[in-house]
Amino acid sequence: GDAGVPGRVRVAVRLRPRNAEETIADADFADCVELQPELKRLKLRKNNWESETYEFDEVLTEFASQKRVYEVVAKPVVESVLEGYNGTVMAYGQTGTGKTYTLGRLGEEDTAARGIMVRAMEDILADTSPETDSVSVSYLQLYMESIQDLLVPANDNIAIIEDPKTGDVSLPGATNVEIRDQKSFMELLRLGEVHRFAANTKLNTESSRSHAILIVHVKRSLKGRHDADHGFPSENGTISTLVKSFRPPIVRKSKLVVVDLAGSERIDKSGSEGHTLEEAKSINLSLSALGKCINALAENSPHVPVRDSKLTRLLRDSFGGSARTSLVVTIGPSPRHRGETASTIMFGQRAM
Ligand code: ADP
Ligand code: MG
Repeated sequence: GDAGVPGRVRVAVRLRPRNAEETIADADFADCVELQPELKRLKLRKNNWESETYEFDEVLTEFASQKRVYEVVAKPVVESVLEGYNGTVMAYGQTGTGKTYTLGRLGEEDTAARGIMVRAMEDILADTSPETDSVSVSYLQLYMESIQDLLVPANDNIAIIEDPKTGDVSLPGATNVEIRDQKSFMELLRLGEVHRFAANTKLNTESSRSHAILIVHVKRSLKGRHDADHGFPSENGTISTLVKSFRPPIVRKSKLVVVDLAGSERIDKSGSEGHTLEEAKSINLSLSALGKCINALAENSPHVPVRDSKLTRLLRDSFGGSARTSLVVTIGPSPRHRGETASTIMFGQRAM
């Protein structure tokens, strides 16, 4: 995938450090991967002698800072959203590999730890002005092909509405909260997490079994910008200035969608909860539909099969076309999870 080219998917891989348990339990074993960030390559070990090499748009080691991850994975997408294009940032990987750490960390205790959602909003707020622009967010969970509002949990089974003419996707049933400062955004994210936990407890499930989706709507009025761009009267002098000041503002709308995907691991079909098989089917459906769509984008295919799942229907106007899409696949170092790591790497490879 190419960085700045619309329609293409930019794919980064991020390795998280060993956790305490792995440091002890896997002490005698090498990591299942070896990264060569300068070459943008990753080697997946097959055994002690052999490995398979894969290339990515970006290879982020366990030492990559949250700031660097934001700059590489999300900043180009955020910039294009500010220019009026839709964009998507997604994290894909096995549960426990750092999807939420990468996207959703609030970093209240340590600002260096802030994740992509918080940094994106910071850039969006810095580039917009409450006088001429509007920034608002919806925060949703997609579980078992049903969309729930994480801001007002009573709203569930939210419908996806597609404009047949423009192809624009909207969720009229979802709460959309105007954001004016970072503090209120953080409070909203926190509230969303509380509601997510409560909803999942009620459904007797875990957050790893659903997709969390943040949508940031940006509406910009371009009138102020025209005037600023042409600060001085040109040949036509005052007349054009006068005309401009009476011109109705042009409103440009775009959105950033950030998706913390459900865990990509295969769910044990013998699970005792009873509903896990249904969950597994639903996750497989949406992740494989997503995989097919990003393969189609990678291959420049005119047919992107968005209709197969709610996830891809919801993302329909946020990838392909003029939209920018960035995917970060997250992996862990443990040799015990080599199989899951390999399948995550393959998902990322197929997107390129
Ligand atoms: P996921 O959302 O994919 O299930 P999490 O983001 O919850 O995974 O991460 C699992 C654990 O690993 C958390 O305790 C998290 O703090 C830690 N972690 C993940 N990525 C990193 C990283 N890059 N550096 C340090 N700790 C990390
Ligand atoms: Mg998570």
